Amino acid sequence: MDGDGEDATGRTRWGPASRAKPLPDSAAKLLAQVLELTPPPPAVPPADGTADTREHDDDTVLNALRAAIGADHVRTSRPIRARHAAGMSTPDLLRRRSGELRRIPQAVVRPATTAEVVSVLDICSRFQVAVVPFGGGTSVVGGLTPPAVPHVTLDLGRLNGLVAVDAISRTATLQAGLPAPRAAELLAEHGFTLGHVPQSYEYATIGGFAATRSSGQASTGYGRFDDMVTALTVATPRGAIQVGRAPASAAGPDLRQLFLGSEGTLGVITDVTVRVRPMPTQTHYEGWRFDSFTDGLHAVRKLAQDGPRATVLRLSDEVETMIGATGSGRSDGGCLLVIGWEGEHVHVVAETAAAVLSAHGGRPLGVEPGRQWEQHRFDAPYLRDALLDAGAFAETVETAAYWSRLPEVHERVRAAILDALPHGALVLAHVSHVYETGASLYFTVICSPGPDPIDRWHTAKAAASDAIAAAGGTITHHHGVGTDHRDWYAAEIGDLAVDLLRAVKHHLDPAGILNPGILVP
Ligand SMILES: Cc1cc2nc3c(=O)[nH]c(=O)nc-3n(C[C@H](O)[C@H](O)[C@H](O)COP(=O)(O)OP(=O)(O)OC[C@H]3O[C@@H](n4cnc5c(N)ncnc54)[C@H](O)[C@@H]3O)c2cc1C
Repeated sequence: MDGDGEDATGRTRWGPASRAKPLPDSAAKLLAQVLELTPPPPAVPPADGTADTREHDDDTVLNALRAAIGADHVRTSRPIRARHAAGMSTPDLLRRRSGELRRIPQAVVRPATTAEVVSVLDICSRFQVAVVPFGGGTSVVGGLTPPAVPHVTLDLGRLNGLVAVDAISRTATLQAGLPAPRAAELLAEHGFTLGHVPQSYEYATIGGFAATRSSGQASTGYGRFDDMVTALTVATPRGAIQVGRAPASAAGPDLRQLFLGSEGTLGVITDVTVRVRPMPTQTHYEGWRFDSFTDGLHAVRKLAQDGPRATVLRLSDEVETMIGATGSGRSDGGCLLVIGWEGEHVHVVAETAAAVLSAHGGRPLGVEPGRQWEQHRFDAPYLRDALLDAGAFAETVETAAYWSRLPEVHERVRAAILDALPHGALVLAHVSHVYETGASLYFTVICSPGPDPIDRWHTAKAAASDAIAAAGGTITHHHGVGTDHRDWYAAEIGDLAVDLLRAVKHHLDPAGILNPGILVP
């Protein structure tokens, strides 16, 4: 995120001030009625008390790194190191705004090849210096939390090229540090698209998507990022590994799955080969209304199971629909479904889907809701900046569950969050990724910050995570585990699987330098 979204205190908001989105008046009024807003103090630079691991070390390790990758690529200026010391969750933004970053790395190292990454890992293993891989820096689960030991951040920004396109097989090999918009431009030059468009699209990277098993707004049609990956190169402290060879294989367990979602704990992903699709010739997005979330869930399940399959599908619950309609004059209740298709002959598919949606109680709202969604699809993080500026707190929780469990997960998570935030909170939810067997659920929480917003949020998030576990959901559908979900992840997979994960990590990373504290319990 070099340049954009930065100021003297470094990455205290999602985007540059020039792209800030003010809260609509109607939304600001509603918030003031429902919540106690506390105007935030002005942002300040990181406090002098921030634990700076550089102050405790001599330059031996940095000189070894300089010799391996070039002095210019070992950055030690304090603002650069501070900018790499957290992700983009709301607690991360608040810590940056209050100058209370917990720790900052000794250096930010920027290798340019897989061999250089292996050298960095080798040097850091020898000197027992931890390494935090850093893509776009958009983690919202503490995936970039600096460990309490001497450490460097390994920024993948120089691994930023398109390596190869195989137009016959429809695959492309992309370097891990490529930001998503640049990857899209490079693929478009060959007439292809990845179709991976998460809300963090503007800054997140190809390697970050693979390392966290990301899912995008069009993943119902194009698939999750991990579905798209055909091969990976991973640099580990013991050397580089390439996994993935053919479109399908019965040659033992699929080792790609070991590294997809490994969040920088088993190795650094340096390039990713992905399945690509021709650029769509047509797109069509439209809106439907259902009387209730239950009715809407029934209808989207029918589409997911019996077709036709949509590219984009987003069903808001009653509260999200109501908040979304605030100030628009549309207030007939119910739930909004935005559904869309990308490809060829999209109107034919849309007509077939319309018959299914109508048969399940849907009422067509035409293309306007689809147009609105398309126009505002990247607004949410800018609105979060505006909410924080207005003195509110906003954060998200996400999960996935089988269809049979989904209504219970929705109810229990909502109730748990509202119970944990007694002095006013809005909890909005939607389904945005559907599968034959189930779907994701994404909750947005807007509440009063209280005197200690981070602590208040941790309590609510723990209650939500317990409710997810009790109702049979997974602790994360696409944000990943990081530090925030680690305990629930351990409970979800069980002791034997935790031991297995630790054993694999120990084999690949015997000095334990890769992202200590993240993912692996
Ligand atoms: C506003 C906002 C909206 C978001 N929306 C979505 C969404 O719609 N869908 C979604 O899936 N996620 C979303 N996220 C979460 C986040 O964007 C994803 O987790 C993304 O995949 C992270 O990519 P990144 O390049 O920013 O990785 P980073 O945040 O830099 O890193 C994420 C984790 O992966 C590790 N890592 C990064 N690169 C590598 C690599 N090359 N090799 C090994 N480990 C690596 C890091 O150490 C860290 O643990 C959102 C986040 C924000 C702030």
